[in-house]
Amino acid sequence: MSDCIFCKIISGDIPSDTVYETEDVKVFKDIKPVAPVHLIIVPKVHIDSLNDVNYGNIEAAAACLNAVKIVAEMSGISESGYRVISNFGSDGGQTVNHLHFHLIGGVKMREGLI
Ligand code: 5GP
Ligand code: ZN
Repeated sequence: MSDCIFCKIISGDIPSDTVYETEDVKVFKDIKPVAPVHLIIVPKVHIDSLNDVNYGNIEAAAACLNAVKIVAEMSGISESGYRVISNFGSDGGQTVNHLHFHLIGGVKMREGLI
């Protein structure tokens, strides 16, 4: 996807503060962190959103979920806890149309979601 910001981060055309990378996944610091730990976990293949995950591409999404515990451990929040969010669409607040998971931690979050 030539106009996708996260594809450009994956290719290296846009620099990012990358903390973890495999053949399938890239994890980098959010440019506008909302918590002491705020990472973006993306599959290297372009999928528009969680709403576009299916059995044909679910391994890419699974690789992201597998990365969660790894980068949480690396970030020192695997015992204190964390939250994982994937926004979809207008009401969900998605601003970048490349499937991604926010990993947020390092702060005590309130219960509930909105
Ligand atoms: P969304 O709102 O789509 O769920 O989340 C997109 C996230 O990507 C936002 O938290 C935003 O701060 C982050 N973001 C947008 N552009 C860039 C960028 O160029 N670099 C990095 N590191 N994060 C970005
Ligand atoms: Zn993309």
